[in-house]
Amino acid sequence: MQLPQKHSATGTTIFTVMSALAQQHNAINLSQGFPDFAIDAKLGQLLEEAAQGGWNQYSPMPGLPMLRQAIAKDFERRYGVSIDADKEVTITPGATYAIYTAFTSILEPGDEVIVLEPAYDSYIPNIETNGARAIIVPLSSPGFSVDWNLVKDAISDKTKAIIINTPHNPTGAVWAKEDWDQLADLVRGTDIFILSDEVYEQLIFDGMPHYTVLQHEELRQRSFALYSFGKVFNNTGWKIGYCIAPPAFTDAFRRIHQFLCFSVNTPAQYAIGTYLSQPVLPDVGALMQQKRNYFLDLLKDTAFTIHQPAAGSYFQIAGYEQISDLPDTDFAKWLTQEYGVATIPVSAFYSNKKDDKLIRFCFAKKEETLKAAVDKLKALKPATVL
Ligand code: PMP
Ligand code: GLN
Repeated sequence: MQLPQKHSATGTTIFTVMSALAQQHNAINLSQGFPDFAIDAKLGQLLEEAAQGGWNQYSPMPGLPMLRQAIAKDFERRYGVSIDADKEVTITPGATYAIYTAFTSILEPGDEVIVLEPAYDSYIPNIETNGARAIIVPLSSPGFSVDWNLVKDAISDKTKAIIINTPHNPTGAVWAKEDWDQLADLVRGTDIFILSDEVYEQLIFDGMPHYTVLQHEELRQRSFALYSFGKVFNNTGWKIGYCIAPPAFTDAFRRIHQFLCFSVNTPAQYAIGTYLSQPVLPDVGALMQQKRNYFLDLLKDTAFTIHQPAAGSYFQIAGYEQISDLPDTDFAKWLTQEYGVATIPVSAFYSNKKDDKLIRFCFAKKEETLKAAVDKLKALKPATVL
């Protein structure tokens, strides 16, 4: 039987491929973005408490009210924005799902969506599955900043949405307030939606603030803001995320959500909601900054080149031009097999597989893991495999 091809991506996602290769070769896995250290013990206890305490049945379709209220309070406290927990917050099984659901709420066949590349690899398949087309705008080097003239040129009368991501995967770049103002200038007077992927919002370094789309009064009116607890509480396997959007957008989002998964894991929602309601929470950004600094220090003793330290996220991009002229995917596989360290080739984040000879390291790891990985990488001298 013939099965329809719903999107243009082929094969298995690079995250699965590289994590599997790491396992197969017993390599240190700095590829897929997940921490290898324990979650806060308190959060684990709360999950146990939830299961023992009877929080084991369906929660309401939009999510546990207690969790939605805790999110609204948290945003009020950290960003000074007021959010209606009932009408604007929906709990989802992770941010990947939230992004898909937001797209499905608004896209119709023939629509265009502007995607800035490199980009998280689910965006384009999500757009295409909905019968729409991705219009690619490359980020500029050096620094992976947005060239707003290119975005302007990409807008047409078919543009339904623009998806943006800050702090950025895979580059670690962070938007300044001016970027938001440029975006607002471009979409003013249009019906263009914004999907703002802010899953790394708290993982931002060197005192730089995260500016959320929710703080931009004008843009907020046209935006779905998407988040993941997995990233900020280091429990990516719990797959709990959320969408914050104006009431009418949230209605549309829930119309899809209620027939896609209906409601989300109740004990995990209880645990996160209770955890988030504590008066003081650990500074997850400071912890991740420490890891970035530690990793960058270690890398100085290797032949990898750092063009720009990550300003946020879990990830550091590095060049290997002194070591090899292999294409990046071959290099990443070779590095896993021969040197026992798995990374992600950055070409995987481009729909045309653009190869700038860069790889992405995930530094959300224990110091001993980072040290053990770099000890292996030190063996790679300039021009080892030219
Ligand atoms: N957006 C970006 C930019 C990501 O890196 C990820 C990966 N975690 C997600 C969304 C998805 O998050 P989740 O694991 O909650 O689905
Ligand atoms: N966001 C994670 C990363 O970039 C992976 C998520 C996934 O495996 N789909 O590594």
